[in-house]
Amino acid sequence: MSVLHIVEVTKTFPGGTNAVDSFSLDVADGELVCLLGPSGSGKSTLLRMVGGFEQPTGGRITIDGEDVTHLPPERRPTGMVFQSHALWTHMNVFKNLAFGLKLRHMPANLIKEKVEAVLELVGLAGYGDRMTTQLSGGQQQRVALARSLVLEPKILLLDEPFASLDQHLRERLREEVRDIQQRLKITTLFVTHGQDEALSMADRIVVMANGKTEQIDRPDVVYRNP
Ligand code: ADP
Ligand code: ADP
Repeated sequence: MSVLHIVEVTKTFPGGTNAVDSFSLDVADGELVCLLGPSGSGKSTLLRMVGGFEQPTGGRITIDGEDVTHLPPERRPTGMVFQSHALWTHMNVFKNLAFGLKLRHMPANLIKEKVEAVLELVGLAGYGDRMTTQLSGGQQQRVALARSLVLEPKILLLDEPFASLDQHLRERLREEVRDIQQRLKITTLFVTHGQDEALSMADRIVVMANGKTEQIDRPDVVYRNP
C-alpha cells in the first residue's frame, strides 16, 4: 500500500527556475526510494517539499491521505536528515535527542527510555553525555539520524547524508542506514547524486533530470539500462 503520494508537483522559484516540473511518485509502506540525479536536477527541492520546508507552486503531496504541504513543524509526519548534521552544539547528545520529545511533553522517564533505545539502534549507546563537537563526522551523522528517528516519523527523508564523509565511512554508513531502515520498516526517501549509493541501498530508484522523472525502476533494471 502507498503511504506517500506526490501528484503532479511543481516548484517554480521567484525568478522563474522550474526546479521541479509536474513530478509524480507513489511510495509504498516500508520502501526505500532513492532520488538520483546530477546537481540541480531538483532532488533536494522535492525532498524539502515532502518535508514541508518548501511550498509547492502546484500539485499535491499526501502522507496517509493527509496533505502535508501546509502543516506546522510539530505536526509534520516526516523526519529529515541534512548533508551537514545541523546538530545543536551547545547541548550534549542526550539533549539533542530529547529536545523534540520534551516539546511533545513526554514524561522524563519515557524520554530517557526512548533516547537510550535509539542511541543503541545507531550504535552510540553510552554517548549521551558527549558534546556533539567531540564526535567524529560519522558519529555526528548517526546522532542526526537518531534525532529524526526518536520522533518516530512515518517517513524518513535523507538529503545526501553521507556527502561530507570519506569513501570508507560512506560505505559503512550506507549499510548501517539500510539495516536500520529495514529493521524499523520505515518508509524512506533518499537523495543522492552517487549511482553506487543508490544501487546499493534502494528498493527503487527514481532518476531525475530537470525536475522530471527520467526513469523509475528497481536497481538491477537501472543498472542494466543506465
Ligand atoms: P539538486 O538537489 O538535484 O541538486 P535542487 O533542488 O537543489 O537540485 O535545485 C534545482 C534547481 O532549483 C536548481 O536550478 C537550483 O539552482 C534551483 N534552486 C534551488 N533552490 C532555490 C532557491 N531557493 N531559489 C532559487 N532557485 C533555487
Ligand atoms: P534543561 O537544560 O532542559 O534543564 P536538564 O539538565 O534538566 O535540561 O536535562 C534534561 C533531562 O535530560 C534531565 O532529566 C536530565 O537528567 C536528562 N539527561 C541529560 N543528559 C543525560 C544523559 N547523558 N543521560 C541520561 N539523561 C540525561
